[in-house]
Amino acid sequence: MELPNFKYHPDPIGSDSICESSEICECCGKQTGYRYKGSIYCKGDISSLCPWCIADGSAAKKYDAQFNNFYSDLPDEIVKEVQERTPGFYSFQEQDWLEHCDDACEFYGQALASDLQSLSQSEVNWILENTYLDSEEWEHLKQEHVPDSEPVIYKYVCRKCKEVFVSFDES
Ligand SMILES: [Zn+2]
Ligand SMILES: [Zn+2]
Repeated sequence: MELPNFKYHPDPIGSDSICESSEICECCGKQTGYRYKGSIYCKGDISSLCPWCIADGSAAKKYDAQFNNFYSDLPDEIVKEVQERTPGFYSFQEQDWLEHCDDACEFYGQALASDLQSLSQSEVNWILENTYLDSEEWEHLKQEHVPDSEPVIYKYVCRKCKEVFVSFDES
């Protein structure tokens, strides 16, 4: 069975948001072969969710759940799709989904050193102004950064202009 298409999270297996699993989805009661691994913001505990119950909004509706933090002035339709029908990810600190060109960005999981090297100068300037990193530390990260090392860096791509953006997370 092919995974549902998530507009804002194109490769949820690659980003480690969804994995293969024999667990039964608590929402639909089916064994779909996959399980969601990211954050769920709701009251109470949900043991296991399948990607289909996220994609069609049934899990969000049934449990009054959200999967991502996204505070934005974009149209409700986009905001709700990210919050309620897009698989999210685990992070140390609360992460806000990024937006650009009047749309939510696509999320690609953790950035690699090669992603950091492809950032625009304006994005690098933003990082130097808004994080604790100075240019020397940034140059070092750009060469050496590997996933699961701190700071954890997430990669987003604008759906329209294709620019790459990153967000930072630390324990
Ligand atoms: Zn399900
Ligand atoms: Zn853009």
